Amino acid sequence: DAGPADLPPDVWARIKDHPCYSEEAHHFFARMHVAVAPACNIQCHYCNRKFDCANESRPGVVSERLSPEEALRKVVTVANEVPQLSVLGIAGPGDALFDWTRTKRTFEMVSEAIPDIKLCVSTNGLALPDHVEELAAMKVDHVTITINMVDPAIGEKIYPWIYFEGRRYTGREASQILHERQMLGLEMLVKRGILVKVNSVLIPGINDAHLPAVNAEVTKRGAFLHNIMPLISDPAHGTHFGLTGQRGPTHAELEAVQAECGGGARLMRHCRQCRADAVGLLGEDRGQSFTLDRIAETV
Ligand code: SF4
Ligand code: SF4
Repeated sequence: DAGPADLPPDVWARIKDHPCYSEEAHHFFARMHVAVAPACNIQCHYCNRKFDCANESRPGVVSERLSPEEALRKVVTVANEVPQLSVLGIAGPGDALFDWTRTKRTFEMVSEAIPDIKLCVSTNGLALPDHVEELAAMKVDHVTITINMVDPAIGEKIYPWIYFEGRRYTGREASQILHERQMLGLEMLVKRGILVKVNSVLIPGINDAHLPAVNAEVTKRGAFLHNIMPLISDPAHGTHFGLTGQRGPTHAELEAVQAECGGGARLMRHCRQCRADAVGLLGEDRGQSFTLDRIAETV
């Protein structure tokens, strides 16, 4: 995983207290997610909308959905009780940038109350180019984009449709638009000096052989970390793939793809696929201690 020895010093200085990006930091600094953004503008075949976004979070989990005001109360309470808190992320439960009004309001209120907290956001990338300037103005310095393909012929096996500029697109056209928006958003972020991590969901038989090409493209465009996550396939999650018996990868398959991508953007191997309402150090989740009903009204 990322460490000071092999990252440019300026990048290391910015991520050293971010638990998701620095293997060292994840023992000492805490992060929390608030699930304020339920709407999503695409359909991934592996997603059931009843649950959190499967691109950034643990599939099959339903996080506590909060209004921006409730999220502020929760973040302030956690900051008072978890001194290691360094990062607030919004990772759904839908798409944080499509549901922009709620994401933006949450970030604005939290950074006014806790000015030194780092903000990060996850997205499927479709709405990303529209918000890069505002993200930069709000000093969001880490963004995660889920990129599962750089070839729309593969994309159409993963995404049945997208909703873009007021209309629904399907088939290859949908994946072509998504791909272009993801690449444009990535380039815009890098140009603004915002650090970009790329998540890819490894789907055996669909994009496994293709992920080295994804790694090469995102490396070329300046992503600093690539996180290859296994598809967690469970018919109970109601995945469309589940209908055709799509399975997740074995550990050996995941390692083989990671090894093939070894030459490009640095790979992240300690992501825990946290819930969209996770709280605490990576590897622990204190989210259930900070549900709204346990937080005093006085905050
Ligand atoms: Fe589901 Fe996330 Fe895909 Fe939207 S981007 S369909 S919430 S997995
Ligand atoms: Fe970090 Fe992954 Fe958890 Fe996000 S989901 S907080 S990137 S470990």
